Amino acid sequence: MPIQINAKPVDINKRRIINGADADVMQLYPMRHTFAWEAYNVGNANHWLPTEIGMQKDIEQWRSKTVLTEDERKAFETVLGFFTTADSIAANNVVLALYRHVTSPEVRMYLLRQGYEEAIHTHSYQYIVESLGLDESKIFNMYREVEAIYNKDNLVLSLNEGIFDPAFKTGTFENDQKFLENWAVFALVMEGIFFYSSFAVMFGFQRQNKMVGAAEQIQYIMRDESQHLNFGINIVNAIKEEQPELWTKEFQDHLVDIIRRAVVLEYTFAKEVFPTGIFGMNAAGFKQYIEYIADRRLERVGLPLQYNVENPFPWMSEAIDISKEKNFFETRVTEYKIGGQLEW
Ligand code: FE
Repeated sequence: MPIQINAKPVDINKRRIINGADADVMQLYPMRHTFAWEAYNVGNANHWLPTEIGMQKDIEQWRSKTVLTEDERKAFETVLGFFTTADSIAANNVVLALYRHVTSPEVRMYLLRQGYEEAIHTHSYQYIVESLGLDESKIFNMYREVEAIYNKDNLVLSLNEGIFDPAFKTGTFENDQKFLENWAVFALVMEGIFFYSSFAVMFGFQRQNKMVGAAEQIQYIMRDESQHLNFGINIVNAIKEEQPELWTKEFQDHLVDIIRRAVVLEYTFAKEVFPTGIFGMNAAGFKQYIEYIADRRLERVGLPLQYNVENPFPWMSEAIDISKEKNFFETRVTEYKIGGQLEW
C-alpha cells in the first residue's frame, strides 16, 4: 500500500495489538505496549550463542560406556527429539501466523527478536546433535516417529490451521477469538507446558554433573522461553483488555479444556522419557509437577486453577519456576552479557 500524505500524527489511543484503527506499523512511536519494548531490550541483553559453550566434556561422557545408563541415553535423545522441532514450530508460528496480523510496531519488534531466538534454539540442538555425533535423521524426525512427541506437536499445529490460511484476517469476532486462541495456546501450552518436562530432564543431568554443556545451553533456552511465555501472557491480557468481548465464559472453558488436554499429553510424554523414573523423579511426581505449572499459567491469565497441588520438585522451582528465575543465572549468564543489567 503506498504511503498517504498525512500531517496528522498517529493517535496512541487507537493503537491495538490487533485491529489497530491507526495501524501505521512503521512508526514505533507513540508506543502503547511498552511491555513489548521492555521484553525486546531484555532479549537483547540476554543474547547468547550455542557455539560459545564447550561440548568437550559432554562428548567424553557420551562416548564413555560407564557414565550414562541406557535409560539416561534414551531420555537425553528423546528430549532432544522433542526440542529439535518444537522451536521450528514456534518460529513458524511467530513469523507466519502472528506477525502479519499484529498492528502494534513495538509488539512486532519483539516478535522479530523472538523469531531469532527460536532460530538460536534450533541451532543449539543442531550443535548438540553434531557435537555428540548423534544420528540426525533419528533425532530430527522423532516428532513423526515417537507418538508422545507427535501428539504434543499435533495439538498445537491443529489449533494453528486457521491462522496459517493466507486468507485469514482479523476483524471479526470469530477470527479474533481464533487469533487469541492461537496466541494463548502457543504461549501457555507450547512455551509454558510442553517445554518443561524436557527442561527438567536436562536439569536432572546437570544435577548429576552429566552432559553439562548441553544442559547449560538448555538453561539459556529456558531463560529465553520464560521471556516468551511472559510476553505471551502479557499479550493475552492486553487483548483481553482491548477486546473484552472476546473473553467469553465459553472461550475461557475452551482454553481450560485445551490446557487440561495438554497436561495429559505432557505427562504421557514424560512417562515415555522416564519409563522407570530417573534422577529421583518418578511418574507420579512428574504428573503433579506438570499440573502445578499448568495452574501457574492459568492464574497468570485469570483462568481458574484446575489442580491445586504442591510443587513436588521444589529443587526445580529454584531452577525453572517463572517467579524464581531472577536469581537463577546471576552467577553464570552475567558473563555472557555484552552490556547492561541482567533483568528478567
Ligand atoms: Fe519460544
